[in-house]
Amino acid sequence: MSELSRLTIAEARDRLRAGDFTATELTRACLDAIDGADALGSFVHKTPEIALDQAAAADARIQGGAENPMCGIPLGIKDLFCTQGVPSQAASHILEGFRPEYESTVTTRLWQAGAIMLGKLNMDEFAMGSSNETSCYGNAVNPWRRGNDDTALTPGGSSGGSAAAVAADLCLAATGTDTGGSIRQPAAFTGITGLKPTYGRVSRWGIVAFASSLDQAGPMTKTVRDAAIMLGAMAGHDPRDSTCADIPVPDFEAAITGDIRGRTIGIPREYRMDGMPAEIEKLWADGAEMLRDAGAKIADISLPHTRYALPTYYVIAPAEASSNLARYDGVRFGLRAGLAQGDGITEMYEKTRAEGFGPEVQRRIMIGTYVLSAGFYDAYYNRARKVRALIKRDFDEAFAAGVDAILTPATPSAAFGLGEMADADPVQMYLNDVFTVTVNLAGLPGISVPAGLDAQGLPLGLQLIGRPWEEGALLNIAQSLESAAGFDARPGVWW
Ligand code: GLN
Repeated sequence: MSELSRLTIAEARDRLRAGDFTATELTRACLDAIDGADALGSFVHKTPEIALDQAAAADARIQGGAENPMCGIPLGIKDLFCTQGVPSQAASHILEGFRPEYESTVTTRLWQAGAIMLGKLNMDEFAMGSSNETSCYGNAVNPWRRGNDDTALTPGGSSGGSAAAVAADLCLAATGTDTGGSIRQPAAFTGITGLKPTYGRVSRWGIVAFASSLDQAGPMTKTVRDAAIMLGAMAGHDPRDSTCADIPVPDFEAAITGDIRGRTIGIPREYRMDGMPAEIEKLWADGAEMLRDAGAKIADISLPHTRYALPTYYVIAPAEASSNLARYDGVRFGLRAGLAQGDGITEMYEKTRAEGFGPEVQRRIMIGTYVLSAGFYDAYYNRARKVRALIKRDFDEAFAAGVDAILTPATPSAAFGLGEMADADPVQMYLNDVFTVTVNLAGLPGISVPAGLDAQGLPLGLQLIGRPWEEGALLNIAQSLESAAGFDARPGVWW
């Protein structure tokens, strides 16, 4: 594999400007790496022609003294983002054949900045899942393995293709989306950095909706600095998304000063779960120690409603999903099931939806429809909304008491084997999100930083949760943790 695709965004930016290589050479290196990595199942639609056209344009801009740090940077794009003329299926059979007439705001901004699209990335169907196994394309595979054991592991989900592609150096970075942990959990499982911004920082326009009050797009990168650079290009007000905040986008990279003296880091006691592996306990304690050594104050805090977060999330997210997914009915987008003589519009809806949606998506639609139904609305959906407000209040109180960021594990385990959860109760899979869903429910920024390896040699991540709109301060603390942890392991290339 060429060394070029291993570069970080920051390194590539500097070397492109110095004329060490061209964006076209960098793009070709990534395209070659992608072609050699079909076994990872990460890229589901490759777009080499678009990539090379964009690379030529980026080279011209760089020669003319391009200013944008994303100019000439090759990226992978999660299949949830609508990209004009390019299949955008949310990894669902029901969107087969759908090629949007329009481009999402996030990808529009990235292309305007001069970034390059290598192709679309695998994911769980409609972003529902934690293992990338609900995808209509088949699962993506984690480039990491347990020692010499060749069991195929999940890259996590739902942004599993994004995580696998970045960890395997097929691209410099990728877009992800996070409704309950789908950027942070796969980042932790693959040893990369994943940032979910504050709700409203990044436009949701043109991103296939899962749960609109929770969904947020963010960068999946090799370093914290790269997350800062890429977020700067993704973020910003968009009149086409009424929940996208009209506030300035600061220079996130400039916020990374390396100085966190006097910052207060909260350690929430409720995140100490029964049965948590000792390795994760230790990683968490070590992380707190590293931040203390860097000059931060460590404070024990309480977020008392944490234990209601998963049940709250698994009422609200399916409720919103059942409403958002009502639009896939065989009329406007993608698939229409074959109809029999005499079938009417109801049969068309039923057959299309039965054929087009996979089992996990059907389960969520049924749960969502149930909790929103007249007889159960107050008992489930309305109650969940109230608990959500209490979960958010816990965080507000911690921040009001002077906490700058909160440190937790990112996931309750390292990457598990593909198929290992196949026969398990679906709730087993939902437990993966125990440390991440609170952050979406409260609309806060959260970042997963690779911090160590488990006994089998698999990456483990720590999560930092920040104050709303203060991604810069969060990234600065995350960078301190990253540099103290000094995580530099890479997966051995077996694909
Ligand atoms: N794993 C969670 C779910 O299945 C979160 C998914 C996500 O963040 N998109 O809902």
